[in-house]
Amino acid sequence: MAPSPVVPLQADRVTLRGVGFHPGSLDGISTSPTGGQVEYRLARNAVVSEFKKGRLSRLDVCDAHPELLRAARHVGSQISEPCPICEEPALTEVTFVFGARLPSGGRCVSSRKELAQLERRKEPVACYVIEVCPLCSWNHLTRMYPAGAGAAPRRTAAGGRVRS
Ligand SMILES: [Zn+2]
Repeated sequence: MAPSPVVPLQADRVTLRGVGFHPGSLDGISTSPTGGQVEYRLARNAVVSEFKKGRLSRLDVCDAHPELLRAARHVGSQISEPCPICEEPALTEVTFVFGARLPSGGRCVSSRKELAQLERRKEPVACYVIEVCPLCSWNHLTRMYPAGAGAAPRRTAAGGRVRS
């Protein structure tokens, strides 16, 4: 058995790959959890446009790990956009939270309530939102935002969620 990495917030680069990120989705993009929310929309759109130009095949972009697909089916929240690849209205978002005392592969969030609890932790956490199409297996990181200790997770353009 290989020793597990000791640096939890760095390890996410590895573990996210482990749940189906194709090479390149995190390359060359700053993932500093201290700088606030990081959008991966441009990178995502670049992949979609390469696919539409025929430079990437479905096999290249529709490679979600079975576990990620299962999460999308069971705990993903459906979003209003259609899938950019198969164009079916099946696109869901799955959130993984990384931080101290969480699984090294991240905690897959199963409800808004659980997410709110994780965001209120005393320890800093990094929340990764991944869009997944359970029909064609398209998947891409959408955004990362820090939460927990001292972070203000709700300052997003999509805002509007009310604290209870
Ligand atoms: Zn799809």
